[in-house]
Amino acid sequence: MAKILIIEDEKNLARFVELELQHENYEVVVENNGRTGLEDALKEDFSAILLDLMLPDLNGLEIARRIRQVKTTPIIMMTARDSVIDRVSGLDHGADDYIVKPFAIEELLARLRAVLRRVKIEKDAHRGSGANQQKILHFKDLTIETANRIVHRGDGKAIDLTKREYNLLTTLIANKNNVVSREQLLSKIWGPESNIETNVVEVYVRYLRNKIDLPGRPSYIKTVRGTGYMVRDEDDVQ
Ligand code: CA
Repeated sequence: MAKILIIEDEKNLARFVELELQHENYEVVVENNGRTGLEDALKEDFSAILLDLMLPDLNGLEIARRIRQVKTTPIIMMTARDSVIDRVSGLDHGADDYIVKPFAIEELLARLRAVLRRVKIEKDAHRGSGANQQKILHFKDLTIETANRIVHRGDGKAIDLTKREYNLLTTLIANKNNVVSREQLLSKIWGPESNIETNVVEVYVRYLRNKIDLPGRPSYIKTVRGTGYMVRDEDDVQ
């Protein structure tokens, strides 16, 4: 049975979601404050965590960040705000999806099923292929060790990428010399069922460029206007 942790300080909302999840046969643990929620999340293995963004003692972004340092438990952020920046910062701190309050319970249940399904697919894929198989990818002066997800430059300097930045880079390199559309990147990196807007991809490409590009040199990632992005062996202009 899937076990879900709800971290939410609005007690009525927490109780409502708890009852609905129990009705769907989930096992549920509720915490009404951030610190005990974080303790539970680190101590026990949950199938997924529903995490409120605005908590009085320890905010949701900080909780997500601390969980992510040690665990891959899927996190759905529940947020009362609705700006792209908040969504991006939530996702960048390690949340897998977000839902904007007030939400319909059916939508929450659908998101939850989607993250649980995604985790199962990833687990199955790892079992099938041998998760620790090392592959070395090269692109220009970048070297990528896939087993430990380390990216470094020819000079040996490691480049610290988040999981999504890493996935974005390796997806582009896997399709080297071909354009990858924003929709393909969204589907591949955020999952086919996420309903995140494509401008989030632009934000992440910007993060990635800031980390891998060299000052005064053309970007490693070409923008193909109106379509998407690509990496190429040769720059158009030398
Ligand atoms: Ca709250």
